[in-house]
Amino acid sequence: INPVYAALERTVFDRISGLARDTGAINLGQGFPDTPPPAPLIEAAARALRERSNQYPPGAGLPQLRQAICEYYARRQGLALHPDRVTVTSGATEAIAAAVLALVSPGDEVILFQPAYDAYAPMVRRAGAVPVSVALAPPDFAYPLDALDRAITARTRALILNDPLNPAGTVASEAELAGLAHRCVAHDLVAICDEVWEDVRFDGRAHRSLTAFPGMAGRSVKIGSAGKIFGLTGWKIGWMAGDGAIGTALARAHQFLTFASAPALQWAVAEGLAMPDAMLDAQRAEWAAARARLRAGLEDAGFVVLPNAATWFLCVDLAASGIALDDATFADRAVREGGVATIPVSALYEGEARPTTIVRLCFTKPGDVLDEAVERLARFR
Ligand code: GLN
Repeated sequence: INPVYAALERTVFDRISGLARDTGAINLGQGFPDTPPPAPLIEAAARALRERSNQYPPGAGLPQLRQAICEYYARRQGLALHPDRVTVTSGATEAIAAAVLALVSPGDEVILFQPAYDAYAPMVRRAGAVPVSVALAPPDFAYPLDALDRAITARTRALILNDPLNPAGTVASEAELAGLAHRCVAHDLVAICDEVWEDVRFDGRAHRSLTAFPGMAGRSVKIGSAGKIFGLTGWKIGWMAGDGAIGTALARAHQFLTFASAPALQWAVAEGLAMPDAMLDAQRAEWAAARARLRAGLEDAGFVVLPNAATWFLCVDLAASGIALDDATFADRAVREGGVATIPVSALYEGEARPTTIVRLCFTKPGDVLDEAVERLARFR
């Protein structure tokens, strides 16, 4: 067994979802919506299954989907991507793996901002590189640029940025992004930009891609996800884009990871991306209402909820809420005894600088489910 995998435990998301299934708990742990998916996409996928080829699509993705991705970004973010530089992947997790394998070599160092998706560090290690952590601290999870400066060495090759940030639900400021771009250019780093939450934002909060900052075009990868944009996490349709040699290397890495992803789902995502913004707006409005409902319920029950502007998640500060348990113990007991699954945020940190009093709750659920979860948590606390 490769030592990276020999040392690896089951991911917290799968473990907590398993516990929720076994105990019958309400699952506010792993992030996925229980609200209805957009009907036009379900129809489009069903139609494509019946009427179109079910054999291998082009490895880099259906041309129609790659084109739709570029048009979507032009419309919603003012970006000028070229379809030749876009590779469709089986979810953003594959894109992250492909980007790390394509761009990182043994002995390199890769900066990870923590909290981090728990796939990043093992993938960096499996590429023979060394993850170097820069910790973000609650409640605002600001990017500590001075700590980043101390973490960069002559061996630093890349950084992985998740913006908007899961689990915090925060969005990097223009100044933070400019600071990150400046360092990438100054130290000749590649930025692997996991932007899967780019279109799950609230309160009019804007998103700007780090890849669009001056000097970043030839040194960045933009990763996106239909699962997050449309709330269809099981479809596992994502993509990655990079200019020039980077774009080519990404495509090469992908061709021998999964080769291609289900064509019917690609057709449906292409249709979805081309739909009027009103469809997305309606889904965002539903998610915003769920977010407000869970926040109000938790606050009424005496929980302190951190500010959030994006993602499907709210974070509760247990210590500030007068709960003495650490997050891992709380999450374990809440799912087994309280009937509600949550994610302990410390699981998304490595090393000393980990906060141990924050749990993450997913709010994209029907209102009565959220109300019942709050009632159970209020009883349990
Ligand atoms: N990103 C998801 C979450 O935060 C987990 C992804 C996964 O479990 N593969 O809940």
